Amino acid sequence: MNKHSAVVEPATPVSELVETTGHAGSEWLSRYSSSLMGVFGAPQRVLVRGAGCLVWDADGKEYLDLLGGIAVNALGHAHPFVTSVIASQLATLGHVSNFFTSPTQVALAEKLLELTQAPAGSKVFFSNSGTEANEAAFKLARRNTGTGDTKRTKIIALEGAFHGRTMGALALTAKEAYRTPFEPLPGGVVHIPFGDVEALKAAVDETVAAVFLEPIQGEAGVRPLPPGYLKAARELTARTGALLILDEVQTGIGRTGKWLASEDAGIMPDAVTLAKGLGGGFPIGALVTFGAETSSLLSAGQHGTTFGGNPVATAAALATLHALENQHVLANASAVGEHLRSALAGIAGVTGVRGEGLLIGFDLDADVAPAVVQAALDAGFIVNSPGPRTIRLAPPLILTTAQADTFLDAFPAILQTAKDAQ
Ligand SMILES: *Cc1c(COP(=O)(O)O)cnc(C)c1O
Repeated sequence: MNKHSAVVEPATPVSELVETTGHAGSEWLSRYSSSLMGVFGAPQRVLVRGAGCLVWDADGKEYLDLLGGIAVNALGHAHPFVTSVIASQLATLGHVSNFFTSPTQVALAEKLLELTQAPAGSKVFFSNSGTEANEAAFKLARRNTGTGDTKRTKIIALEGAFHGRTMGALALTAKEAYRTPFEPLPGGVVHIPFGDVEALKAAVDETVAAVFLEPIQGEAGVRPLPPGYLKAARELTARTGALLILDEVQTGIGRTGKWLASEDAGIMPDAVTLAKGLGGGFPIGALVTFGAETSSLLSAGQHGTTFGGNPVATAAALATLHALENQHVLANASAVGEHLRSALAGIAGVTGVRGEGLLIGFDLDADVAPAVVQAALDAGFIVNSPGPRTIRLAPPLILTTAQADTFLDAFPAILQTAKDAQ
């Protein structure tokens, strides 16, 4: 047991229900393909255990996790403090439905309003995922109806946008391959060119209910909005009465070294959606609405969820936020991210490095990104390819410089192996 191992020793290990050891990865993968829907393709590995930034597969191989469950495991795996808080809440009160509330739910809402510097009258709605946080935001936008002759029927999103896979969030998502098989999608969404202030100016008028933006588009390959864009979007939407809704599901909760990636823009949006890193690996999402007017657009009975904001999920998020704050994790994310970006920029074959904190995207000089993912796995590193020549890193925010260096040292050989395999 190293220092990252859970302090909570479970009374009944899960291995009494499922034989977690003694079966080869290949056996689990064949059982997977017979029992799980094929929407994700074949899993890359079968993972059985994690500690800190490391995970181990069913065949005993160790990996440095540089993807963090896609920007989710902010504190790595089996973080002792988060683990013990979740276990203790579950052993006290696990679920109550939203006919009731619980102290952790109220405390988490207050904490999120504090961290997002929300003014008086601001409110929170809890969901279980990013897409559900965006569904709530979509419904909020629909309630920004406009008055008199001005009917706000349109919603603006950007080309390259990813906002989730449920029908409303999918309508906001740009990628044709995700959308087309499921049309008709909820109407009124218009996608405009990425990062183009003139296009935004032309699109935002009094018929627009909301503008949805990711400060950095994660799924599109870690693409930051150009400087000044968020400020321009704020001015335009304020002038016409459209809501400015920021999707910080991937970029929020310390991922960029700040609580919100949009912090430096010096604006107050009307709403922010959060999810991935919020629960430190436990599923939870949130919609934060700024100011009393926006916060009352959805009235009693107009939205709901059975699980959203349940005691265990909100305890997990409270524990995550507490550890992020008290263990100086955001400063670490900034420093290690800076180190990774500057070192990556000096590696032959790496043509462009983007991102902030520990959300990093970089391009390669050939279309070998999927082969790089495979070669990296064989070398003991988990990375991701959001595009044919783009690699994304979103590791735990507790990644050390020494751990980052093991990847930087290994990367030239990984890239060569990937090119040789083409
Ligand atoms: C991941 C993601 C979502 C969807 O979150 P899920 O929890 O997968 O539903 C939405 N928006 C952004 C920006 C994301 O990165």
